[in-house]
Amino acid sequence: MARAAAVIVVVVLLGAAAAPAVAGEPDPTAPAYEVALTGSERGMRWKGRETISFTNPGAAPLDRIWIRLWGNGGWGCRGMRHVRIANVAGATAGAPRVFCSAVPLRLATPLAPGARGFVAFDVVLRVPARPGRFGRRGNLALLSNAIPVLAHLEAGAWRLDRYFPIGEAWTYPAADWTVRLDPPPGVSVAAPGVPQPDGSRRLERGRDYSFAAGRLRARRATVDGVAVTVWAPRGRRGAPLATVMRITRRRLPRLSALFGPYGWPDLQIVVTDDALMEHTGLIMTSPDDWVITHELAHEWWYALVGNDQAAAPWLDEAFASYAEEASGAQDRPWCRRAGRSARLVTRGTAHFREREFRGYDRIYSEGACLLDLLRERIGRDSFRDALREYALVNRYGWSTAAEFRAAMDAVSPVPLGDLWRRYRVR
Ligand SMILES: [Zn+2]
Repeated sequence: MARAAAVIVVVVLLGAAAAPAVAGEPDPTAPAYEVALTGSERGMRWKGRETISFTNPGAAPLDRIWIRLWGNGGWGCRGMRHVRIANVAGATAGAPRVFCSAVPLRLATPLAPGARGFVAFDVVLRVPARPGRFGRRGNLALLSNAIPVLAHLEAGAWRLDRYFPIGEAWTYPAADWTVRLDPPPGVSVAAPGVPQPDGSRRLERGRDYSFAAGRLRARRATVDGVAVTVWAPRGRRGAPLATVMRITRRRLPRLSALFGPYGWPDLQIVVTDDALMEHTGLIMTSPDDWVITHELAHEWWYALVGNDQAAAPWLDEAFASYAEEASGAQDRPWCRRAGRSARLVTRGTAHFREREFRGYDRIYSEGACLLDLLRERIGRDSFRDALREYALVNRYGWSTAAEFRAAMDAVSPVPLGDLWRRYRVR
């Protein structure tokens, strides 16, 4: 998400906090999703069946999993729950938790260590009747992180982070997605993945699966070997399709040069002012160059190189903000010296929630400043090469502060300890 979208929202703190996050790599549950949804009500309602296969990565039998219904996160349990599951096969559902954004499923048969099992359930998604990343305006429905997903399992414990309204607190191991979306007549779907003969789309090693639907216009082109489709609602003023495609032609190859090849065969770009959001193979963006570039950069820093967005959001947001500058969408560096908010950069979403979200934007700007300072210390070419190498090594994998720090220390001709201390990079 781009910092311009940061809206201060006060959320009442209720319930127990999740276990302390350590921002490590998720346990290898290796999820695979099969989803088939049929749309109705002009694409504002989707109903169907979802199957999630997963591995028990632990040493003991696994008797319970958690499913995240992130689409309920901004609403809680009040009134209509916009995401519901029912008719669970292979498990029994318990009472929803974390403001109805998490449901425990007790497996019918505990899963042995290393074994693979699955659960299946009916899904109903009702797009909220207000603008937003999971929301609507006019004929356009945005379904960002609306499809139920397996929760993040870390060191044998399920992470049940709170929804974060001005950024992201969802974390996903890379997963294979097979998704079939059958829209009602007259409705188009902007969704990532390679079309299959049966009408489904296949997205391999993707994290989330998000899409948009509505009465849309599209413009298609191959950019740097990637099948790019830009979508906008019919009737939107101006010529955003041509503008956004022109910007993408310029920035996508530069980002590939900086961080290694783009990770999927296709890319969907949904032009909207209601959400500035990154998803695997799909972004929701305004037609502004720096916003498009920021969201495109998340196809590397988030989608291709995953990170713990709840505990260490700087590992994608600071990097995407830095990419705006590094790929030419911004003329000037983010900074010349560290600012007073340097100590905020590596904080997790819980820290900012407790402070009514004050300072969250510093993760973007002051975090990008840290990368500017590293470039200054290490040298422009060496830093560029080291960052690219770090992205390549962690492709379809995971980034942590400790690994990034070690990678920079390994190439730096000068000590970096004072910077790490100042920015609390551990
Ligand atoms: Zn962002």
